[in-house]
Amino acid sequence: MKTNKLALITGGSRGLGRNMANKLADKGINVVITYHTNKTEADKVVAEVQAKGVEALALQLDVSKADSFEAFVAELTGLLNSKFNTDKIDYLVNNAGVGLHTPLGATEMSVFDALTDIHFKAPYFLIQWLLPSLNDGGAIINISSGLARFTAPGYSVYGSLKAAVEQLSRYLAKELGPRQIRVNCVAPGAIETDFGGGAVRDNADYNKMIANTTALGRAGLPDDIGDVVAFLCSDESRWINGQRIEVSGGANL
Ligand code: NAP
Repeated sequence: MKTNKLALITGGSRGLGRNMANKLADKGINVVITYHTNKTEADKVVAEVQAKGVEALALQLDVSKADSFEAFVAELTGLLNSKFNTDKIDYLVNNAGVGLHTPLGATEMSVFDALTDIHFKAPYFLIQWLLPSLNDGGAIINISSGLARFTAPGYSVYGSLKAAVEQLSRYLAKELGPRQIRVNCVAPGAIETDFGGGAVRDNADYNKMIANTTALGRAGLPDDIGDVVAFLCSDESRWINGQRIEVSGGANL
């Protein structure tokens, strides 16, 4: 059943973000997704979601450019007014991201900076710019990673930035509590998407290694994550706040 709720999902053109958009639409939540370069896929997601009976829109956003967020929020607000008859969103999912292998000793500072911009600076400043646009009583979900808890050689920068996002989420849960806005992190284990060149999905040996180190004996699928994000964008999760929820089937326990 269609609700009057609206979610903004960054990186909604593929992978986990695409799945989240569909799962939110299944709950009757209208969605705005962002994409970076892939307008064709983003348009397909909009069509998928609209077929479920909710409103949807795709906007271009490069999350590595925080100085573009003010203009992005102005564009978003204008479109919300004209297409959704509101200037507010209820849910923000900071999902957009890339996985880059950066072993100590071979990490360019520019790559370190790019990862920091995408995985830490972007969630912080997008939330800050969207504060007036977020309805009180809403929710923010920041997508972290199992790699914030356990380690994989070459992912120290990525994993540390995800750990930073988890701590940020606890701080923001406290700061936004007076507005009844919940802030949580979802930390996926290894999931079969395009992420990291699609290795979890396409490399059979790697997929098997993940399955062997996961209590439930398989790699993750986008549905495993989308369902949890949809739950966090619902009243059923009203008392979950400031939490890191790992969704990994029990990886590296
Ligand atoms: P994916 O399939 O590679 O999709 C990445 C999405 O992010 C795409 O929509 C892409 O847009 C967008 N994106 C990439 N760089 C961007 C930028 N600079 N600005 C704006 N958007 C950008 O990856 P995924 O598996 O869905 O990953 C989503 C999130 O889950 C990431 O934060 C990732 O760190 C996290 N995560 C993933 C896994 C996993 O194993 N898959 C595990 C733990 C955590 P375009 O389509 O336009 O390129």
